[in-house]
Amino acid sequence: RNGFLKESFILSVDVGTSSIRSHVYDREANIRGTCSTKVVLLYPEVGHVEMEPDMLWRGFISVVKGAVQDAGVHMRQISALGISTLRGTFTTWDRRTSVPFHNFISWQDQRAAELVKSWNTSCTMTAIRGVMKLVYSLTRQKRSLAASLIVFSTQHVTFRLVWALTHSKQARQAIEEGNCCFGTIDTWLIYKLTKGVFHPLCSEGSDGFLCYLVSLPMSILPTMADQQAAMFGECCFDVGDVKITMGTGTFMDINTGNEPHTSLAGLYPLVGWKIGSEVVYLAEGNAADTGTAVKWAQELDLFTDVGETSAMAASVSDSDGVCFVPSFSGLQAPLNDPKACASLMGLKPSTTKRHLVRAILESLSFRNKQLYDIMLRETSIPITKIRVDGGVSSNDFVMQLTADLFGRKVARPQHHDMSCLGAAFVAGLVVDIFGPK
Ligand code: ADP
Repeated sequence: RNGFLKESFILSVDVGTSSIRSHVYDREANIRGTCSTKVVLLYPEVGHVEMEPDMLWRGFISVVKGAVQDAGVHMRQISALGISTLRGTFTTWDRRTSVPFHNFISWQDQRAAELVKSWNTSCTMTAIRGVMKLVYSLTRQKRSLAASLIVFSTQHVTFRLVWALTHSKQARQAIEEGNCCFGTIDTWLIYKLTKGVFHPLCSEGSDGFLCYLVSLPMSILPTMADQQAAMFGECCFDVGDVKITMGTGTFMDINTGNEPHTSLAGLYPLVGWKIGSEVVYLAEGNAADTGTAVKWAQELDLFTDVGETSAMAASVSDSDGVCFVPSFSGLQAPLNDPKACASLMGLKPSTTKRHLVRAILESLSFRNKQLYDIMLRETSIPITKIRVDGGVSSNDFVMQLTADLFGRKVARPQHHDMSCLGAAFVAGLVVDIFGPK
């Protein structure tokens, strides 16, 4: 009993778009306790997607307590806490009172669509693209060619932040007084956990040039990060390792080593992690509507339980000519069309629910294939291994079709909550808990 009390554990929390989950891991990374709660998304207006900060905070606290209780351990046996959260979702709050000026604005939110459109067609951007094209014609430097093709999207936090600040008089006043904090969910949680002592201020990972363009004060910015955690959890440590997280959306990342990748097709270069002085970069392609397409089909009563969908799709030999385009929030790389609308085509009197379900699931695998092809073509990095995680990765039909389209194996771990495991690994490295003692 005493020996057990001396044992140390890592607690990890992943705040996703559909749920908040927490696991307690032992030093062999076995899960010893688990707890999760649903995230309530708010849709106050068409195109607006929000989360209530206090709901997230209460949910966070309840899963932390629940997982520790489920593991049957004491809070003091927890050596470190790893937090992984969805990215591109933010709020602003008052530094003095910790009171948010507005709800969290989700990565799926489209409120800045008009602002993004006006920037994409603005004289400033036309001039910048012209200069970058000229630089490319003189230097043949791929980065300047990529810069000449820059098209902003609503997934960029910057434009939604500009929208939020424009619409909140209180936030603007707080900026003038030096009391406005901006933060993604991880920052907000750390701020709350430390009672405002710690607001990780920095500009690393923030696009200084973009902030300058739209006149955003850098002083309100913190550090940014969940796909990086999933990549780490999947042990994609080597150049050419690929992971595909299929949750609410799909996020395919390739490890590009110590060099960021410059993309023409819309892959994002990202800092994966920094351990010591070594920085590892990722290139990421995404499809915004994966779990959302499955959920939508469920709401139409095409099935009762998501667990039925794989067998339903496999019970027909094809979709009988039905095609689905999973683009409730536009189509990202390599099509990069924010206005692409979701559609169902090729309906016939003979179309059944099973054909519809098959068409929807096929569309998710087809998006994987599109992302895989541009990754191969653009990075020219030989892909070494492919690992999948996220709720939709438990669908056998989607994963088998993905592997067939790729013409190679994709590995699915038993436990698909990789963002949580990755955050636990990083936290565990800091306190040196993993491995034999
Ligand atoms: P997030 O991290 O974005 O919150 P998750 O990784 O938890 O998302 O995945 C949740 C999504 O996975 C939900 O939209 C759910 O409908 C979908 N999902 C879960 N199991 C299956 C399944 N067997 N087949 C298809 N979709 C599934």
